[in-house]
Amino acid sequence: MKYARELDTALAAVRTAARLCEQVRADQQSTAMRKPDASPVTLADYGAQAIICQTLAIAFPDNPIVGEEDARLISGPEQGSTRRDILSYVQRQHPEATEADLLAWIGRGKGEAGDRFWTLDPIDGTKGYVRGDHYAVALALIEDGVVQLGCCACPALPAADGSIGTLFWGIRGEGAWQQPLQGGPDQRLSVSDHHGPTAVMIESVELDHGDPQRQQAIARALDLNPAIARMDSLAKYGVIARGEADLYLRLTPDPDRRENIWDHAVGVLLLEEAGGTVTDDRGQALDFSRGSRLWANHGIVASNGRFHADLLAHLTD
Ligand code: AMP
Ligand code: MG
Repeated sequence: MKYARELDTALAAVRTAARLCEQVRADQQSTAMRKPDASPVTLADYGAQAIICQTLAIAFPDNPIVGEEDARLISGPEQGSTRRDILSYVQRQHPEATEADLLAWIGRGKGEAGDRFWTLDPIDGTKGYVRGDHYAVALALIEDGVVQLGCCACPALPAADGSIGTLFWGIRGEGAWQQPLQGGPDQRLSVSDHHGPTAVMIESVELDHGDPQRQQAIARALDLNPAIARMDSLAKYGVIARGEADLYLRLTPDPDRRENIWDHAVGVLLLEEAGGTVTDDRGQALDFSRGSRLWANHGIVASNGRFHADLLAHLTD
C-alpha cells in the first residue's frame, strides 16, 4: 500500500494525542486560555501538538509540520506553571521529557509549507472540546499541494459498533475508512445518495464560523430536510463521508476571511475518497498549495456530490 509507513505513524500519533486530550478533559483541566487573537487554547492543544510533532520528528525528520499552536506563547517566565501542567500529561508518554523538549516538540509545528509537509490541528474545534462536545485531532500529509494522506480522531463521535470515539483515515486514490477509536474492524466510507428532502445539512455549532441564515435559506431553496445537525470540528466531514449527513455549508460572511489548511485538509480527503465533493463557495477546488491558509478560496461547500451543481447554482445566483 502507498504511504504505509506514513499512515502507521500518523495513526499512532493521533491516537496517542487523542488519549492525552481525553485525559485532560476527564481531569477537568480543559479550561480555555486565550491566545493573542482571542481564540481559545488548552493544555491539551499544546500537549497533543507535542506528542504528534515528536513522533513525526523521529519517523520523518525532514518533513516540515504546519500546525496550529505556537510554542512561543508558552515559553516566557510567566507561563512556567502552564508548561509544567502540559509536561505532566506529555510525560505519561515520555517520562524523560523536559520543559525544553516540550517547547522544542511544539515548536516543530511552526514549519513552512513546502513540496512535502504535514499539517496538524492538535485540537480542531477547541470551543467544542472545552464545552464537552465534539472535536478532532487532525493530521494530513500534503505533497505538491495535494492532500495525499490524512487521519483524524474524533473522540466524542460514536463509532459503527456504538462505542464512543471514531478514527478516520484516507489515502488519495485508495479510499477512506473508519474504525472505533478504542479498536475494532475497519469500515470503508461511502457517502449516501440522498438529495432533496432526504438530505441532511450539517453546520458548525459556532454560529459566527459561517452564515447560518444564508446556509439555511439555501437548504430550503434546495428542498433539503429541515433537520439541521450541528457539530464542531472536521468531524462534520467524517459524518458526511459515512453517509449520516449530506451537506456542510460554511459560508463565511467576512469576504477577507481565509480558512486554515489544517481545519480542512483531512476532511476534504475523507469526503472525496468516500465519493463526495468539496469546493469553495464559487465552485473552485480547495487549493492546498499556497501555505498555511486556503488563500485562493472563500467559504466551504461540502456534499455527498449528488446535488453539488444545484447548490453552487444557488450560491452564485
Ligand atoms: P468548526 O468547529 O467547524 O466551527 O471549526 C473550528 C475552526 O473554526 C477552528 O479551528 C478555527 O480555526 C476556525 N474559526 C475560528 N473562528 C472562525 C471564524 N470567525 N470563521 C470561520 N472559522 C473560524
Ligand atoms: Mg482548528
